[in-house]
Amino acid sequence: MDDRELQNWVERVSLDRFGIPFRHRAIFNARLRSTGGRYFTKTHHIEISPHQLAAYGPEETEKIIKHELCHYHLHLQGRGYKHRDPEFKALLKQVGAARYCKALPGARRTLPVKYLLICRSCGQTYPRKRKTDPRKYACGRCRGKLRLVEAEPRPG
Ligand SMILES: [Zn+2]
Ligand SMILES: [Zn+2]
Repeated sequence: MDDRELQNWVERVSLDRFGIPFRHRAIFNARLRSTGGRYFTKTHHIEISPHQLAAYGPEETEKIIKHELCHYHLHLQGRGYKHRDPEFKALLKQVGAARYCKALPGARRTLPVKYLLICRSCGQTYPRKRKTDPRKYACGRCRGKLRLVEAEPRPG
């Protein structure tokens, strides 16, 4: 599949599932490895990883396309287009989009950051890969008390 076929694919999904045309560019980017796709707020372009297609096939890739189109359409309409926005989450469900852009096989050797310890006094953050008891640690900067929150998934 080449960029032109991808472009047609994204345009078709946009019309079929969102009822609104996709008027920007969709291209493959072979350097995208940690996510299956990406939406650019500046250019409104969508990039899809060809490794995504090779590893998971067209069905899963279409879910990623829908995910990026959720960012795209909500952003252009001035609505909540980020992962934590309720409108974004609702639209993902409505169109059957991927909740996250899957990490590709072999894309990451280390665990992703899942949690953050945040200092209650100075706001300093400490990324953690596993759940950590915040009472066992103190802020390295000000010795303040910490709290644990779940990290936002990386934008994809
Ligand atoms: Zn602190
Ligand atoms: Zn995303």
